[in-house]
Amino acid sequence: MPCRKLTYDTSADWAPIADWLEKRKDPDTKVDGIVRDILENVRLNGDSAIAEYTCKFDCESFTADRLKVPTEAISAALEAIPQSDVAILEEAIDRIRTFHANQKEKSWWTTSDDGTILGQMVRPVDRVGLYVPGGQGGETPLISSLIMNAIPAQVAGVESIAVTSPPRADGTLNPYILATAALLGLDELYLAGSAWAIAALAYGTETIQPCDVLAGPGNIFVATAKAQLIGQIGIDMVAGPSEIAILADESANPKWIAADMLSQAEHDPLAASLLVTPDTNLATEVAKELKSQCAALPRGEIAAKSLEEWGAIITVPSTEMGVEIINNLAAEHLELAVDDPWAILGGIRHAGAIFMGHTSPEPVGDYFAGPNHVLPTLRTVRFSSALSVQNFCKKSSVIATTPGYVAKHGDKIARLARLEGLEAHARSVECRNK
Ligand code: NAD
Repeated sequence: MPCRKLTYDTSADWAPIADWLEKRKDPDTKVDGIVRDILENVRLNGDSAIAEYTCKFDCESFTADRLKVPTEAISAALEAIPQSDVAILEEAIDRIRTFHANQKEKSWWTTSDDGTILGQMVRPVDRVGLYVPGGQGGETPLISSLIMNAIPAQVAGVESIAVTSPPRADGTLNPYILATAALLGLDELYLAGSAWAIAALAYGTETIQPCDVLAGPGNIFVATAKAQLIGQIGIDMVAGPSEIAILADESANPKWIAADMLSQAEHDPLAASLLVTPDTNLATEVAKELKSQCAALPRGEIAAKSLEEWGAIITVPSTEMGVEIINNLAAEHLELAVDDPWAILGGIRHAGAIFMGHTSPEPVGDYFAGPNHVLPTLRTVRFSSALSVQNFCKKSSVIATTPGYVAKHGDKIARLARLEGLEAHARSVECRNK
């Protein structure tokens, strides 16, 4: 399993790397048309369209009356999984909720001597729809997706949250998804997957009320449906394949670095794992480790494909040039596997989540530490951030002026309006001064 090796001697010309990684964008344009048809069918035919797709793709004898998961099935799932797992889920939920509580923005107000009050009022959206991927037909329940998407919405104060996930062949959901929903206090779950689930959450059907914001990852059909709905509803982000960049120096352990690269590579053949290091010895050792560790992984075949196509070990003459390359890669996940990561942190301009030092591997953040694991990919961290409480809020500006304010400033406002050729605007202010 050879991984691409790149060497930079004197200049950090990162553009060829960026061009190469850009090619991970899915070129499948056929999906656009398929998804457009699905969205339209669900918009027009509601529950019956969902039942039709579900029968065709997920569960043969599915009928629309089974769309909503009975509340008793959600709470009963807490007994269906080991109590030790319930305790771990509770602790993860608690930590993630505590972290997100810090993100909550407050409404604010300013008052002036003339009695003017200006402010910004923060309000949660009314209703959110969360998509939880099927996870290979229910075999690998994506519980962390549910937790990471639900908690910021709950902390924002969203009162109505619907969750949808494709049913397994027997028409049920994996008990871990149900139990996690129960622990999160979610009781509105639907059995629907793919683009038809996204359509139902956006447009509403007889059974599912429409939502204002949709969040949650999924396959190409889910991602395309969300992208096609931009402008009609809020969406979390259009996520591309996952990626990790690791900046490591001679203090790094090659076994650990290889394990971290593989933890990204096992996601998906399109995942990218990139090591940047000034230590050529470390580069050689990591390459050896990747080979032996990959062979021993259950998802080794996926990881090997990912590393062959989108993995790279990049050697640089200095840590400073490494930082320059790291900033240009603008990766979703960044590990600073160096002796003093805090000395480097100030130089990092673009990264979705930064994992500091040798004992902060990325999975700590994927599941447990607290920050959100839903992060921008494909260099979009240059202008966007992790999923947060803000994705589920909006802000209204509040303007309260006084008769004195209009008397003092009315002429100036009218003049600005007339410069724009908007006479009615000018008169709207002036009539208050007559
Ligand atoms: P999924 O729910 O996203 O996809 C399964 C659904 O797609 C099912 O309803 C299935 O019937 C439907 N489907 C299958 N073939 C179809 C077709 N031809 N047309 C329309 N619909 C079809 O769950 P999954 O299969 O487990 O995929 C999960 C995806 O989510 C993966 O691609 C994974 O990479 C991605 N993911 C991304 C992140 C992220 O943060 N970026 C996190 C977790 C998962």
